[in-house]
Amino acid sequence: MKIIINGIHANLRFSSAHIIPKHESCGVIHGHSYIVDVIVEGERSGEFGFVVDFKKVKDIIRKMCKKMDHRVLIPLKNPNINFKNINGPIEFSIDKKDYILPFEDCLLLDLKSTSAEDLSEYFAEELYYKLKEINNEISSVQICVNEGIGQGAYFTKNS
Ligand SMILES: [Zn+2]
Repeated sequence: MKIIINGIHANLRFSSAHIIPKHESCGVIHGHSYIVDVIVEGERSGEFGFVVDFKKVKDIIRKMCKKMDHRVLIPLKNPNINFKNINGPIEFSIDKKDYILPFEDCLLLDLKSTSAEDLSEYFAEELYYKLKEINNEISSVQICVNEGIGQGAYFTKNS
């Protein structure tokens, strides 16, 4: 069975800035109001016969959204970003552009990119392993990270 949580109606959202290095229009710092949709599939279990409690899924996703909200998302594994400092002010360059951003304005992520594709994979992996601790019968977690309304990237984490 599947449970579905619609990010707009369940308020699973965050607003963040990011950069997609070398991309013609997305290579400058810009922002999105992101919305996260969730589908969890698995066997029903426990006292109530839930796949997983909606509230538990929302709590996990909301915490992740809160960490990202109103931050510049920085992908530490991006091969096109040349980091000079990540312990104080975040200093890096992309081609000939130099950036210095306050540490508290940024969220450093262990990702290659902060595209909707990479963010959906990140959310799905995190959610999958956290939910597995609650219900071992979960077979997949599917996340759609929407960049605004009308476009998003789906990733499915299967067991
Ligand atoms: Zn963007």
